[in-house]
Amino acid sequence: MSVMSSPPDVQESVSPLARAADEVGPDGKIQVDLPCRQCGYNLRSLARDARCPECGFPVIRCLRRDDLGYGDPRYVARVALGAYLLWGTSVAALPTLFLLGAYGTGARLAAYALAAVAAWLVTTPDPSGIGETEYGPTRRAARTLVPIGLLAAPLSIVYRTTASDAVMSIARLLIVCTWAIAFVGVLVLVRYLQCLAIRTGGTTAARELARSFRGIALCVLPLAVIYFLKVRYGTLGSHAAMVVAVVASIAIMGLMFTVVSTMAGTWALARELRAEAAIARQLWPPEGGAKRDGVG
Ligand SMILES: [Zn+2]
Repeated sequence: MSVMSSPPDVQESVSPLARAADEVGPDGKIQVDLPCRQCGYNLRSLARDARCPECGFPVIRCLRRDDLGYGDPRYVARVALGAYLLWGTSVAALPTLFLLGAYGTGARLAAYALAAVAAWLVTTPDPSGIGETEYGPTRRAARTLVPIGLLAAPLSIVYRTTASDAVMSIARLLIVCTWAIAFVGVLVLVRYLQCLAIRTGGTTAARELARSFRGIALCVLPLAVIYFLKVRYGTLGSHAAMVVAVVASIAIMGLMFTVVSTMAGTWALARELRAEAAIARQLWPPEGGAKRDGVG
């Protein structure tokens, strides 16, 4: 399975029962081996609106197993923290669109380190293993590529401070590679965030993140090509310069919308995840596996 494969259709998150269609037969009864979330009893052949005969847990809450609200609350809280940090990263990225030297070296390194921590937290694997067969490759790719891509920051410091020509040319080559890795890594990360958004049942984050993905895919490459042309060929002829200026303006405008979508998407995702973590804390069995009273 490709790491860039599309997340499940957003529409699916609207109707939990539609999503659980393969678990419930046309007669409204569970047609698969479905363990009770609370006691593990096999709920197969029970009606969808019944309760677990062993512990009284509602059968309907055992469907949609990939909903994060039913997950391990510590895991969901960790992913939520990662999403809040990613939002902070996208906010910090905004001034760099207008002023390339918006931050000093120390601040830039701190921002990159924060982004790496955020990407690491948000791509924590679900301890239940749910989702790994569908989007595990996307999750692992984001977790690996984003931190590698962020090494561009310390490399650019080496590039600017070294006195050796050899070190400089190696650093330049590595910077180009890490930027390419960062580009793919960010795309994969946004794809994975879309998968997480669908698991919260909310639709705002999924919609904004879909915009963010399209914006990054469409706007970054033309700017990179223009930057390369400028470095490689210096001043361009007047016609070429005109075309380049128009393309660059459109791409930068698109990038501004993209940053706004990314901010809106990560913020909505973080809030949806925090809400799911609160639900998870109520639903998750207490430590020691003690049985709780049936809900309701
Ligand atoms: Zn049960």
